[in-house]
Amino acid sequence: MPVSTLALNDGTQVPWIAFGTGTALYGKDVEQAVTVAIENGFTHLDGAQMYKNEASSGAAIAASGKLRSELYITTKLQALQPGATPKSALEESLKKLGVDYVDMYLVHIPKQHGSKLKEVWKGMEEAKSAGLTKSIGVSNFTADHLNEILEVATIPPAINQVEAHPYVWKALGPNLAVHKEHNIVTSSYAGLSPLFRGKGGPLDPVTEQIRARLEITRGSPVSEGQVLNKWLKQKGVLVVTTSSKAERIREYLDTENVPDLTAEEIDLIDATGAKLHKRFFVCRS
Ligand code: NDP
Repeated sequence: MPVSTLALNDGTQVPWIAFGTGTALYGKDVEQAVTVAIENGFTHLDGAQMYKNEASSGAAIAASGKLRSELYITTKLQALQPGATPKSALEESLKKLGVDYVDMYLVHIPKQHGSKLKEVWKGMEEAKSAGLTKSIGVSNFTADHLNEILEVATIPPAINQVEAHPYVWKALGPNLAVHKEHNIVTSSYAGLSPLFRGKGGPLDPVTEQIRARLEITRGSPVSEGQVLNKWLKQKGVLVVTTSSKAERIREYLDTENVPDLTAEEIDLIDATGAKLHKRFFVCRS
């Protein structure tokens, strides 16, 4: 079954779930992991210059036999070297990935650019105008960072990739308001954190209760990870995840086939998550 897509504010479509090559795969050779992800149905690959593995990701892309148009490739701009621009940095990424363009290019971490954020955004627009990327967006941007670049943007960011799970959802309020106003898709990383990084929190019995209900409704296995990813999907969030296991990769993609959470179940996760504010990453300034 093809992976369903989300519409972006620039008229393009993005697969709702991506296989990431950061976190557990950061700095590693990812050829095997990306190959397994593609073979099992992932079409959206989320990488970054900072992960130092674009070349091995590119090797898997080349060996996959997929047409370029069948894959959606994201990379992210790291801190600029002296004399470099977002466009020249992307040219380096394209060489490593072995492709002519990426689908999405994100400013990875706003604090890496200090007072130059507006200039960097104009550089992102230049990379898009040159045809090196179909879409541009940001990551780890607060509402203030977004408002800063929106002052000069002729192209608004299409997505903002941030840590998103029930323990930070309430705190994301100001971000989500700016996203809504400018039609920016919220993308999540660390979405499964309540299950392991934050295990023992108030959400544990709630996700298990909903999992059990969905499993009975479906008549086949449902995991707690699927409950959390479905919660994000039903909020219109683009999920970025990863796994070292083929079985879990298939489970992530199978999330689409899990019955919907009810409005009450979504509210229950929201309310329970709001009881504990817990962030696991420090990429925001
Ligand atoms: P998730 O929160 O979805 O976690 C995925 C990890 O969870 C995998 O390593 C997997 O391990 C493990 N896992 C899944 N289910 C369970 C379970 N039931 N019990 C225990 N462990 C489980 O995503 P990540 O936080 O890892 O981030 C995914 C991607 O997001 C990164 O690779 C990167 O591309 C991107 N990212 C972006 C950031 C940014 O600044 N823009 C920051 C952080 C991440 P296993 O291998 O065992 O399946």
